[in-house]
Amino acid sequence: MKNTHIRKSLTGISLLLLLPFLPNLRAAPQPAVSLIELWVDASEAPRKIFHVRMAIPVSPGPLTLVYPKWIPGEHGPTGPIVNLAGLRLEANGRELPWRRDSRDLFAFHTEIPMSVSRLDVSFDYLSPTSPGGFSTNPSAKLAVIDWHLFLLYPKGIDPEKALVRPTLRLPAGWRWGGALQQRIERSDEVAFEPIPLFLLVDTPIVIGAHYRRIELAGAPDGLPPHVMDIVADSEWALDIPESRLSAYRQLVREARALFGAMHYPRYHFLVSLSDHISHFGLEHHQTSNNQVPERFFVNDEVHRRLADLLPHEFVHSWCGKTLRPHGLVTADYQQEMLTDLLWVYEGLTQYYGIVLAVRSGLLSMDEGRQLLAAYADELNHQTGRRWRPLQDTATAAHILYTAPVEWANWRRGVDFYPEGALLWLEADVLIRRLTDGRRSLDDFAREFFGAGTGSEGRIFVKPYAVEDIYAALQKLAPYDWKGFFTARLAEKQPRAPMGGLTEGGWTVSYREMPNPFVLSLSEEVLPLPSSLGLVVKEDGLILDVGRETPAYRSGLGPGMRIIAVNGRRFSREVFLQALASARDGRPIQLLVENNEFFTTHELRYVGGVRFP
Ligand SMILES: [Zn+2]
Repeated sequence: MKNTHIRKSLTGISLLLLLPFLPNLRAAPQPAVSLIELWVDASEAPRKIFHVRMAIPVSPGPLTLVYPKWIPGEHGPTGPIVNLAGLRLEANGRELPWRRDSRDLFAFHTEIPMSVSRLDVSFDYLSPTSPGGFSTNPSAKLAVIDWHLFLLYPKGIDPEKALVRPTLRLPAGWRWGGALQQRIERSDEVAFEPIPLFLLVDTPIVIGAHYRRIELAGAPDGLPPHVMDIVADSEWALDIPESRLSAYRQLVREARALFGAMHYPRYHFLVSLSDHISHFGLEHHQTSNNQVPERFFVNDEVHRRLADLLPHEFVHSWCGKTLRPHGLVTADYQQEMLTDLLWVYEGLTQYYGIVLAVRSGLLSMDEGRQLLAAYADELNHQTGRRWRPLQDTATAAHILYTAPVEWANWRRGVDFYPEGALLWLEADVLIRRLTDGRRSLDDFAREFFGAGTGSEGRIFVKPYAVEDIYAALQKLAPYDWKGFFTARLAEKQPRAPMGGLTEGGWTVSYREMPNPFVLSLSEEVLPLPSSLGLVVKEDGLILDVGRETPAYRSGLGPGMRIIAVNGRRFSREVFLQALASARDGRPIQLLVENNEFFTTHELRYVGGVRFP
């Protein structure tokens, strides 16, 4: 499916941003496209409620307002409509009735009376109180202002043409940071310049009681301004070691060297430091939203585990936002997105993100290899490989992002990230081999995503199809690229693509200590050898069991809790010790609780304690 609504270039955006007010940009027919006023009152963010008011230019007759449903970067219909409450529509001070669409729960119908030209809309956004998924939730001391949460817009308008003039009220004493252009700031209230709706949605900002702004690069480096806007739950979390900062400065220069052009007038890395918010990153053209633990900058271990996050989201400005698969370019936020090419959008970004993390010094070369070894080991023990090809993890992405952890090994998850990185590493090694080392995926970055697009400093979207990827690679190094990718994507493969590692001269070796990236994203999970097929928490609760693995054959399943190992109370040490001493073939005796019932299990596993 092709939808090219946003494909045309967006020349003139920066000019529009400079105008304090724009007269009606009327696009026929209904609904009118004009300046929408938006007031977001975030003064009660710490108690998880936002108050929203809008003034929308309208014409008499039927009108449908919609709440953004398909959120760019989240690759799914994740707009949290359930959190919209207190909706009230008014015209000339009189309340108007509304009715939700029976089929599309994101749409509200109303009738605009004669001689009414302005609709006043108000509602509250009820924020989640605890972390979960992509939903951004405020902590007591900070919040991310994701504008799509606070917007209703007339169905059918062009988000590129409709202008919004946002005003934001902050909690007392909080400050804000981000790429929006400020018009007026008075105590605790900031008015921003009018901005096209799509660009507002694409430009979240952070607000917080503890805020630090760091210039990473700018005119003296011959680059557009690059700023890090950090909000935190504490002042100490902002105390970033200088060596770490200089690696982030280097990241900007390395990205410039890799892509050769920057498709934005400025770039802001938003970083929220809190243990009480969801932890993830989300990409935008001129911004990335990075939500990480409070100790991210000050603790080496925490930083290492997430060191490729900012590089990954930064790479997306080129791979994902500017160059974007056709299926992810939609007319507005109500059109469904097709995710088949996420193995490029996310997989290649994962690859370049790791490359840039290593080149900029955020990860050492050795850590980069350990990360790839952890990917390879986990993917090679993914029992779901027997039924689900990699392509299907991309096609079904929006159900897999929110899939439960139980049976994840057999179901497979969003494997196009780690497996995508290995896949593209293999492509890189192949290009180098085919060209006697003269070309690499660096050239692909420059020619397909960067300088080759002939644009600098300008925000635009250029859609591509998979054939464009094959053709660009073909130009770089003649080869059957379609065959190369089809075999690894569409066909069931018992093993992850290991060619990049092996052809590059590496093998995955094993030792008794886990490398820091093994199961690194979940601190409470006990790292176990992948070949055992068991994911268990530190308290013995089994999170996942792979099909036809030693754990599965012993009768274990997710939700059970291991109480004792060889007659002794379960603990991390007791379990790992039992694995180590079971090399002689004696089964490990497990006492397991399943709801209120106890069972015993014999676990036959002779692999010992082996980590990549
Ligand atoms: Zn991504």
